[in-house]
Amino acid sequence: MKPPEHGMISSRARDRMVRELLENQGIDDPRVLAVMRETLRHLFVEEALASRAYGDENLPIGEGQTLSQPLTVARMSQALRLAGNEEILEIGTGSGYQTAILAKLCHKVYTIERLPTLADTARKRLRRLGYHNVVCRVGDGTLGWPEERLFDRVIITAGTPVTPESLIRQLAPQGLLVAPEGSRSAQNLIRIARLADGSIQRETLDPCCFVPLIGAQGWRDSTP
Ligand code: SAH
Repeated sequence: MKPPEHGMISSRARDRMVRELLENQGIDDPRVLAVMRETLRHLFVEEALASRAYGDENLPIGEGQTLSQPLTVARMSQALRLAGNEEILEIGTGSGYQTAILAKLCHKVYTIERLPTLADTARKRLRRLGYHNVVCRVGDGTLGWPEERLFDRVIITAGTPVTPESLIRQLAPQGLLVAPEGSRSAQNLIRIARLADGSIQRETLDPCCFVPLIGAQGWRDSTP
């Protein structure tokens, strides 16, 4: 059993995170702010890192991968413009933290992780925490969701030289895709919209820094 003050400290830490790291940096979607405030980020990293969970930093999650800083998670969630009824395809489950945030903001999340150990930990964690609207899969997300179908939103949480064609193809009309595009060490968030007539519109959002998306339509291997 954790001492009772643990929960209070953590709720104060989350309030501060939302105020100083998100609201002051341009996050103004009230649903995103509320979910970031209520989600226990420290449960998505190993216990030794829990005290750093509400600071302004990426955290290691094993296998050389990282959980993005809170501002990046919030920016991507806000950029998806979620109303609550969407089905989302997420590439790069990692710890499952971004998945958990999205699960509270939409109808259902379909998420793919390339590394089986991370996928397994995230799947069990999300189930234990009561996220029942998430479908987890192991595989190469650059190839898209294996069954032929469309998604209202697509999010890639690993850096890619170009957004994989298979993922753009699975974007429904009026859908939005958010991804970090660029080099292995630095990217820009981009947003692709599929308009009602099926055409595509692109815009560039903020600079960001993700671990590489590795796969048939991403980076080719794990060498730096
Ligand atoms: N959003 C995650 C962090 C992502 S780190 C979180 O909240 O914790 C990026 C993740 O993408 C890593 O776990 C990495 O293994 C995964 N990844 C990289 N290439 C991938 C691919 N082709 N398909 C699926 N997952 C991939």
